Amino acid sequence: MFIVKKKIHGNDYFYLRKSKRINGKVKSIDLGYLGKTKEEADKKLKERLKKESVQEIKMEKKILEPTKINVEEMAIFCKKKGFIYQSGEIYGGFAGFWDFGHLGVELNNNLKSEWWNFHVFKRKDIVGIDGSIITHPQVWKASGHVDSFNDVFVVCKKCKKPGKADRYELGKVKCECGGEYDEKTAKDFELMFKIKVGESGDAYLRPETAQLIFANFKFVQENARMKLPFGIAQIGKSFRNEIAPRDFLFRSREFEQMEIEYFIEPGQKCPYEIPDEEILIYSSEAQINNQESVKMKIRGALKKGIIKKDWHAYWLATEFSWFKNLGANPDNFRIRQHMDNEKSHYATDTWDLEYKFPFGWKELEGIADRGDFDLSQHQKFSKKDLSIFNEETKKKVLPHVICEPSLGVGRALLVFMFDSYYDDKERGNVVLKLSPKLAPIKAAIFPIVKRPEFEKIAEEILDDLSEEWNVIYDKSGSIGRRYARNDEVGTPFCITIDEESLKKKDVTVRDRDTTKQVRVKIVELKNILRELINKKLKFEDAGNLIK
Ligand code: ATP
Repeated sequence: MFIVKKKIHGNDYFYLRKSKRINGKVKSIDLGYLGKTKEEADKKLKERLKKESVQEIKMEKKILEPTKINVEEMAIFCKKKGFIYQSGEIYGGFAGFWDFGHLGVELNNNLKSEWWNFHVFKRKDIVGIDGSIITHPQVWKASGHVDSFNDVFVVCKKCKKPGKADRYELGKVKCECGGEYDEKTAKDFELMFKIKVGESGDAYLRPETAQLIFANFKFVQENARMKLPFGIAQIGKSFRNEIAPRDFLFRSREFEQMEIEYFIEPGQKCPYEIPDEEILIYSSEAQINNQESVKMKIRGALKKGIIKKDWHAYWLATEFSWFKNLGANPDNFRIRQHMDNEKSHYATDTWDLEYKFPFGWKELEGIADRGDFDLSQHQKFSKKDLSIFNEETKKKVLPHVICEPSLGVGRALLVFMFDSYYDDKERGNVVLKLSPKLAPIKAAIFPIVKRPEFEKIAEEILDDLSEEWNVIYDKSGSIGRRYARNDEVGTPFCITIDEESLKKKDVTVRDRDTTKQVRVKIVELKNILRELINKKLKFEDAGNLIK
């Protein structure tokens, strides 16, 4: 852009101009009148540039930032779109239990398989198991759950609703309504669900998946021929009789966990490079001194002694990177060290990966150093030797659990939903920008109009793609309506068959996030889609970009 002076009837007039190439020739176009003096023109141009850059920033922000909604609004959205329903809703709902709808089940399964691929398939040092939900009751005696897996039940003086607290929090925490808890109502509340098995006895629904890993530790180590350091992973349901289930999936009574118990020889160093991640770090010391969390490299925090052990730094960075790589917003994460009075009975050091939920910073994943507590307890109660033989040192060793990354599937699902929810006012609909890997439907296939020739091609493409992914066929409503419907449930790609497809044997593929479109040959579609889903190809390079 530049300023030009024009002389009209002996007077000066200043205009803003811009050069533009039109049909191969450079032409200059008037952008507007700026005033009668150079000073006036400079001032107006400055104001104009400022206004434009503010608008640009606003536009960018609008595109870059998800829309903030609260957890109730998210629950309503999830219900309306077929992700999640309250269990037993037609009977008034059952607090703390949730059913997954046709899209929720896909999202949940994708999330779990991404976790499993990353933590089990892609690593040589971790294998998986799938333990039973009800196991020998002695397992829970040995683990300490029977004697100490309690919360404190309290009633709020103001709203009279029951609430939960940890012992150390009594007198310090308040109810959601702002009221104080009545300490006279405080009593221990057992969190495990007791059930009857057969005629004879009491058993429990498991309150965590971890103990099944410890109880099977020796078999797995021997059969999978694992050498220290190594881990055992498990994904599965857990049950806790939460006093006050709340915040949608965040605190449920039935939920799924994805856990790893990572075993080392006592004192063994971490042989892996710590991922180069930067995150807000909130040490117990900072919490005691009422200081803020500080953004720094996890490697730096280890060097400075804020994080004591290399293994802890490694697992915290690894877990954070898993979320980041699947599209979560890194600014919404921090790691917080447990204070001495909140550590579990077994833990020597615990850090939580926390997320800034609409209802505050909350635990997403606990990463505890459990020492040899669990294996020694099971050794003591079962009277079986759980130590393993180290071929190199020729000594028997009872391994330590140096880290136990333990993540709730429901809490992870909420993170991805909040970080991908964009209410796009220009499009007039929500765009759920889930990573294509997590998206419940990978592609929607549309004939542009209902014509048998188009429908035939669409159905052939559907058959081909559905061998590999969950894809849908949609022929009802205008094309715009079909795009909007798919934007709202996070379908990353829409494939349209039109007149040109008959002649050129190609289709239009539309990108959910940018609405850009490319033409792709039908024979290449499956491979291209695979590359797009796995982020191996930029959308603009997937085919001929439609201007
Ligand atoms: P909180 O303090 O929030 O009750 P916790 O410290 O008891 O959690 P852990 O026993 O460390 O939780 O469980 C590991 C993970 O399992 C948690 O980080 C969370 O992601 C998930 N989780 C635990 N309890 C629940 C629940 N009631 N509903 C949903 N997820 C849960």
